[in-house]
Amino acid sequence: MADRKQELEGLRDELIERFDRYKAHKEQRNGPLDKDVEDQSIEVVNDEVIEALQQEAEDELCQVMHALKRIEAGEGDDCERCGEPIDGRRLAALPYTTVCRDCADL
Ligand SMILES: [Zn+2]
Repeated sequence: MADRKQELEGLRDELIERFDRYKAHKEQRNGPLDKDVEDQSIEVVNDEVIEALQQEAEDELCQVMHALKRIEAGEGDDCERCGEPIDGRRLAALPYTTVCRDCADL
């Protein structure tokens, strides 16, 4: 379980870094539009992709923080919905999950 916590903390730091990078990228883009039309349309697409990636990193970060909180409370290996222990292989594959396979399928 200590391993899973370490793994989640590493994941958390990585996600924060990723999130900051997307944010910095977007802020940099707010300069003057001095490029040709083709370039601009490519950048609009990039912005949408960055936006989606940033949202994804944020969602994942929330999930990781939530899982860490449950581990710290001593209930990290139990399903949040039904209270049954979560399968170890599932935790290994998805360290930030807080529900068992049955509940995740609902
Ligand atoms: Zn469950």
